[in-house]
Amino acid sequence: MECNQRKNMTKCNCTYPCNKKGICCECIAYHRSLGELPACYFPKDAERTYDRSIEYFIKIYNER
Ligand code: SF4
Repeated sequence: MECNQRKNMTKCNCTYPCNKKGICCECIAYHRSLGELPACYFPKDAERTYDRSIEYFIKIYNER
């Protein structure tokens, strides 16, 4: 199966310099191993904090 990196890049909102952009399988595996979620779970302002923790995700969604 071909990698869909180029197609996935059109939906990637991550602003952190990283070589996993568009390689969603590696991206989610990396963040999951740290107890985190990838950038695409976070709205623009929250994404730019680079806090990918599940606690932060719950916090911002409870506040909005
Ligand atoms: S969400 Fe994390 S792993 Fe995915 S591209 Fe951004 S910094 Fe890299």
